[in-house]
Amino acid sequence: MSAKSTTLDRERIRTMSQRELERYNKATPRSAAMYERARKTLARGIGSSYQWREPWPVYLKEGKGSHLWDIDGNEYLDYLNGFGSMVQGHAHPAIVKAIQEQVLHGQQFSEPVEDGVIVAEELARRWKLPKWRFTNTGSESTMDTIRIARAVTGRDVVMKIFGSYHGHHDYVMVSVPGNYGDFGPRDDYGSFPYGAGIPQAVVDMTVAVPFNDLDAMERRLEKLKAQDRVPACMIMEPAMMNIGIVLPEPGYLEGVRELTKKYGVLLIFDEVKTGLTVAPGGGTEYFAVMPDMVALAKSLGGGVPCGAIGGSEEVFAEVENFNVWQVGTFNGNPLAMAAAKATLFEILTAEGYEHLAKVRQRLADGCTAVIEKHDLPAYTVTLGAKGCVTFTEQKVVDYQSYCDYQDAEMMDLAWLYEANRGIYAAPGRDQEFTISVQHSLEDADRYAEVFGEMAAELTA
Ligand code: PMP
Repeated sequence: MSAKSTTLDRERIRTMSQRELERYNKATPRSAAMYERARKTLARGIGSSYQWREPWPVYLKEGKGSHLWDIDGNEYLDYLNGFGSMVQGHAHPAIVKAIQEQVLHGQQFSEPVEDGVIVAEELARRWKLPKWRFTNTGSESTMDTIRIARAVTGRDVVMKIFGSYHGHHDYVMVSVPGNYGDFGPRDDYGSFPYGAGIPQAVVDMTVAVPFNDLDAMERRLEKLKAQDRVPACMIMEPAMMNIGIVLPEPGYLEGVRELTKKYGVLLIFDEVKTGLTVAPGGGTEYFAVMPDMVALAKSLGGGVPCGAIGGSEEVFAEVENFNVWQVGTFNGNPLAMAAAKATLFEILTAEGYEHLAKVRQRLADGCTAVIEKHDLPAYTVTLGAKGCVTFTEQKVVDYQSYCDYQDAEMMDLAWLYEANRGIYAAPGRDQEFTISVQHSLEDADRYAEVFGEMAAELTA
């Protein structure tokens, strides 16, 4: 980060964005037509509200390795990678083989299978947490860990990080990124529902504290204690992954661990994004801080919906003695287990992680070189298979600083500019890129090259 970066010409950003939007609209007429057809029956033409983009969604057709094709035949290098759920890359031969073989022997029994035992053993080895269960999505994983925490502690309040996303169930659709105006004092942030339909009683049960701020967290815990509302758990990502990437400051996670122990609050690491993509044992291994429970999903199933929760003997006793019903028709189904087994034993091996680190670093170094060459007010952040360019010269350490500093117009321009040149980046201002084991150094260079073209035009 340089203190004397180029001041970007706002008018030029807007002119370039408009031009790139028109160009992209012209390149996606079949998506436009599909949207007209889809919106008649499929609400807003999409299967999940996060798939929306103005003026119409892009409908995809094929993925192979690091490449994607949309229904207009546009080819992209995929850096969205299913919101970080395809660190295997598309149609990885080991995943294809595992699924094909399993399908021939039945894909759903609602009864346990050996592959599930093998996957649980491997997750226990990687996370050094003894007990595991399966789910199908990240939302189910965070929901189940919170329920277990409530059962273990006999308390209702959930503490989370302001601006973090943990899935779409009511307990955590509170104080995620949104337009809330003033959040309130740092040690007494308000609780804000994300969209309609979330009961106020549930909203009030979820309190949020700023990331990277142990003092604010301790003051909030003191206040809650005085109100006889000590939380059941603190659920957090070890590194924030829904506002670009915000890394924990040195000592922060250790401090959270100490505070949670001091107040008898269970610590849940939501590793839906960090797990498997950051290190073999996720953020837990990478940052060397042990939570009481972890929630996994996304990349575990290589494209087959699959999640898992892990924890200590003590917390899982509540599941084992049937006090907590941790259940689901599709939990641990043979198809998901076959894909997860192939992921853990054939793809995300030591060599797999080495490759991911090499390609991610090449990409990040390429972007950093562009930033330096053009004195852009931006910096790169990396973690495992993930990284991002954060457009500001101020360091973003939490959601407040993200709102104050991050340049939303630049994020929008970057997406369009890249899409028009064959790079499918994460949409919106709050995501990061994910590479896969099938991305090459040349793929990384192409990303940096396009970023460089945009920077040159912006600063010419
Ligand atoms: N936790 C985190 C950190 C996430 O990023 C997400 C999804 N982006 C979820 C939970 C929810 O996962 P899912 O969409 O599979 O329910």
